[in-house]
Amino acid sequence: AAEEGFDLEEVAGDLAAAGHGPLPVLAVVGRPNVGKSTLVNRIIGRREAVVEDKPGVTRDRVNYEANWNGRRFTIVDTGGWEQDVLGIDASVAAQAEFAIQAADAVVFVVDSTVGATDTDEAVVRLLRKSGKPVVLAANKVDGQSGEADAAALWNLGLGEPHAVSSLHGRGTGDLLDAIMAALPEAPAMTFGAGIGGPRRIALIGRPNVGKSSLLNRVAGEHRVVVDKVAGTTRDPVDELIELGGITWKFIDTAGIRRRVHLQEGADYYASLRTAAALTKAEVAVVLIDTTESISVQDTRIITMAVEAGRAVVIAYNKWDQIDEERRYYLEREIEQDLVQVQWAPRVNVSALTGRHMEKLVPAIEAAIAGWETRIPTGRLNAFLGELVAGHPHPIRGGKQPRILFGTQAGTRPPRFVLFASGFLEAGYRRFVERRLREEFGFVGTPIQVSVRVRE
Ligand code: GDP
Ligand code: GDP
Repeated sequence: AAEEGFDLEEVAGDLAAAGHGPLPVLAVVGRPNVGKSTLVNRIIGRREAVVEDKPGVTRDRVNYEANWNGRRFTIVDTGGWEQDVLGIDASVAAQAEFAIQAADAVVFVVDSTVGATDTDEAVVRLLRKSGKPVVLAANKVDGQSGEADAAALWNLGLGEPHAVSSLHGRGTGDLLDAIMAALPEAPAMTFGAGIGGPRRIALIGRPNVGKSSLLNRVAGEHRVVVDKVAGTTRDPVDELIELGGITWKFIDTAGIRRRVHLQEGADYYASLRTAAALTKAEVAVVLIDTTESISVQDTRIITMAVEAGRAVVIAYNKWDQIDEERRYYLEREIEQDLVQVQWAPRVNVSALTGRHMEKLVPAIEAAIAGWETRIPTGRLNAFLGELVAGHPHPIRGGKQPRILFGTQAGTRPPRFVLFASGFLEAGYRRFVERRLREEFGFVGTPIQVSVRVRE
């Protein structure tokens, strides 16, 4: 994709990786030559300024670990990403977009000796839209006389312009204090309750599929620790259960154990419970009652889990009850109704007899592994290059949109951003997603593919 000017996949990869490291990520964005790299060098305490003047030279590293008053963070220098056939405006916008996406906070650098340009204004709009914390650095204020130029940048509407001289160090301490105030302690997380601690499993499925039986089977055979109590002490919400040598947290077990059989609105409450459990969970084990036909309600619950971006395992329960004929029809139903979740590991279990319960944990582990998969940017782009060469997008109206490059913007679940030269049809997108799965697996996880069009 070098001829498109997007020859900096590494930049994108590092940005993407930076977004999910253990440290919060600060991105430095701005037009070329405003002094981003000089500022980064200043912040990371590097004496000699590694400033690259030559267009076309990719810096080998763009992420650095920095430390201010004992607080560590990752700093992303987007300064290397400028040379671009798209023109300055488009490339600055693209750079900002990427950086903003990956960052927990952004330093927007403006050259105060030049003032705010249209390109700067365009970046401001992107920053606003992102809702990420922004610190405005009015750079090249080398002396007192430059303060007025810095103050003029209040007009950008990003709050106080912090007057600095990246070159000489003037004002950079105050700037760093402002950055620290804006930067969250920990990197942003893709879902509610946080990474770490025991894996969180939600058992979901329509009423009577056997959730409560499965939970009792699991809990009955293993050590149960009540994690939280809601309302009454006898009403555990989440339970810690040790399985296969690992402690798992089963989410909202109270909702499963409490056998409320509401006549009216039962479905509604069941789906509320499902939604709430999914919010807290990492993995959804969806139970299907194999003695009955797969219903719209079953597929709706699976869709909820997929749309919530959770790892998914499907447990076909009551296997003890079904005969050969039913099994035949069940397979047909699965082919028909669950084709969109073919990737989900499947276990055929009986909560009643305990059949194949030992297969549950490996299935959950496989789904989590898929959910957390990260594809290195180089490998992803090698794959995309081959895919585009072998199966180009159909020509539409004399034009042929192309995928220029891609990056994995996140995990849990894997999320991809593809940059393309034109609008990609839904069919082609699905094809790309299918090929991604064939190539990289992604067992047990939804994957998200979004496309940015560069024209
Ligand atoms: P980038 O393209 O945004 O990364 O900008 P650089 O860091 O490469 O800086 C561009 C030019 O501006 C270089 O010649 C720097 O020495 C100069 N520069 C950077 N910061 C300052 C500053 O605070 N004061 C002055 N006078 N020049 C600066
Ligand atoms: P929940 O509403 O999803 O929690 O479902 P329950 O666990 O209450 O189960 C509903 C009914 O199905 C109960 O009568 C269970 O005894 C029965 N059941 C659950 N799992 C199995 C199973 O694996 N085999 C058979 N034969 N019955 C089961």
